[in-house]
Amino acid sequence: MEYAIDFEANNAKFQKEGFPGQQPLRPSKHVAIVSCMDARLDMHKALGVAIGEANLIQNAGGRTTEALRSLVVSQQLLGTKEIHVIHHTGCGMLIFTNTELRNKIKQDLGTSAADAAGAVDFLPFPDVDQSVRDDVKFLKDSPLIMDVPIQGWVYQIEDGKIRKVD
Ligand SMILES: [Zn+2]
Repeated sequence: MEYAIDFEANNAKFQKEGFPGQQPLRPSKHVAIVSCMDARLDMHKALGVAIGEANLIQNAGGRTTEALRSLVVSQQLLGTKEIHVIHHTGCGMLIFTNTELRNKIKQDLGTSAADAAGAVDFLPFPDVDQSVRDDVKFLKDSPLIMDVPIQGWVYQIEDGKIRKVD
């Protein structure tokens, strides 16, 4: 099978020219970031975060309910002491509802898949600022998350600017 990107060739170049050297396991700036998996985002570059400085947790939408497991590991085992939740404009999560996605799954994958999808909340949202507020609140209310600073942000896909959401 031919894959889209030649990882082995690219990696050989990376090993020679880009490998940052061995780093400690624990992020040196003690920062955890939750953001979207959107292919247009480069949170390290956008925020000036170097390799080794932060745990970057990415999923569809940057939802903290899904990131909870990783955040607990990040805090308890990797020593992070602040959390940033960054959603973005133009997010794929703004353009569907659970019902629409479940209907598509039924069409594409059949009835048993549709039954399984009925139990999954795909966590779409209609308002990016509100989703950030909801996800920050979820973490602040969670008994599994330590009492640390938690900041919400929106990244503007149109121009790369971030803004705080309070
Ligand atoms: Zn997104």
